[in-house]
Amino acid sequence: MMHDVIISGAGPSGSQCAEVLAKAGYRVALIERDANWRKPCGGSVSSRVLKLYPQIKKLNIPKIRGGVLYSADYHRVEYRRKDNLFSTVIDRLELDNIMRDTAIDVGAELFDKNLAFDFISKNQEKIGIKTKSPSGVKEYHGKIIIVADGMSSKLAIKSGLRSKWKTEEIATAKCAIMEGANNLDEEFIYVYFKPYMGYGWIFPLGSNRFNIGCGIAGEDLLRYNLNDIYTEFIGDPKIKEFIPGSNYKIIWAGSYPLPTVGVLENSLYDNNLMLIGDTAGFISPINGEGISGSVYSGKAAAEVAIEALENEDYSKNTLKKYKKHPDIKHFIRSFKMRHSLSKFFVENRGVNLNKIFELAEKDSNYREQVTGLFLSKEDIIPSKDFFTRIKEI
Ligand SMILES: Cc1cc2nc3c(=O)[nH]c(=O)nc-3n(C[C@H](O)[C@H](O)[C@H](O)COP(=O)(O)OP(=O)(O)OC[C@H]3O[C@@H](n4cnc5c(N)ncnc54)[C@H](O)[C@@H]3O)c2cc1C
Repeated sequence: MMHDVIISGAGPSGSQCAEVLAKAGYRVALIERDANWRKPCGGSVSSRVLKLYPQIKKLNIPKIRGGVLYSADYHRVEYRRKDNLFSTVIDRLELDNIMRDTAIDVGAELFDKNLAFDFISKNQEKIGIKTKSPSGVKEYHGKIIIVADGMSSKLAIKSGLRSKWKTEEIATAKCAIMEGANNLDEEFIYVYFKPYMGYGWIFPLGSNRFNIGCGIAGEDLLRYNLNDIYTEFIGDPKIKEFIPGSNYKIIWAGSYPLPTVGVLENSLYDNNLMLIGDTAGFISPINGEGISGSVYSGKAAAEVAIEALENEDYSKNTLKKYKKHPDIKHFIRSFKMRHSLSKFFVENRGVNLNKIFELAEKDSNYREQVTGLFLSKEDIIPSKDFFTRIKEI
């Protein structure tokens, strides 16, 4: 069966991409390995994402107004938005279902229990993908193929657009949804930086639930054991102030890697092909926020695909507009800046960050910029003074 567009992966990036294409009247196949998979995630969703999914705001989920950030030596920096919502926290399975169902409602066809493992090629052109399904190998043909199946994508490697991630390009994080009495302020997310490359978080989920987790990045992945770090984090006396109980019910737990180097700007497109979301590195290198980059890269790829379909030209010369899309240019620039800063932040076993937070504790203008960087406030661009003072540290 011929579709206009085949999308491999029905996570946030693939579902948003499918929705935009299906709304425009195109035939979209959304290929998913397992729609019941709960992606390991903190589930923090920024207001930028909620703009595309206003229905999420109506759910009974936390209305997050800001964040509390701690350095490794527990300097505390707080950000609170007075007017509108800063973000929310949601169970990822629920989020993925909402995003996927929104795409299906406007006409995208979901093919669940299909694991994409290779392209179908003809005269050196990619004309579809092959999947493994319970009833054997299946083939899906399309004019454009969009790879949205996450950071462990098989197709991204087979496409030749990018190679396997190196240790220094990724982090791995472990998290859980827990239930039980706690002292968390339901309007805040809590982030704890560490004396290694990584951080821990507690995100309130309402009705006595919270998402708790931590991650390690780069070479520290080789030095530390994620399970040990997680156990240490949830037992930390400072954390215990907020979750004093000794017997929280674990609703769910899991771990998964994430890329930390920013957008792979030279791996975004080829003839008939685009890479979106985690597959192409659309995650903020400082805080690991990737849902926003995923949905907006999916939206941008869909807009470029629509133009290509209208003109019946799927060559890389046309698809290069994806990289030039204003949203994509924004993420490339913003993540590049954050990636270069993140190296400095984590150097020196957390001491640099301790000093930055100490400064931010005392100076509200500086604090505004620090929280802007760490909480991905889009309107905050660090000033020259910010960098000058960092260099003095
Ligand atoms: C532990 C952890 C915590 C995080 N916390 C946050 C957070 O709080 N907020 C935030 O914004 N971001 C967070 N992120 C990042 C965020 O999870 C990702 O950026 C986001 O999920 C990327 O969306 P995606 O659609 O590109 O990929 P994914 O969400 O990974 O979706 C990929 C989809 O493709 C499917 N798939 C995979 N392989 C195949 C295949 N071969 N064939 C068919 N289908 C396949 C999967 O089942 C999945 O549905 C976190 C990441 C981790 C690992």
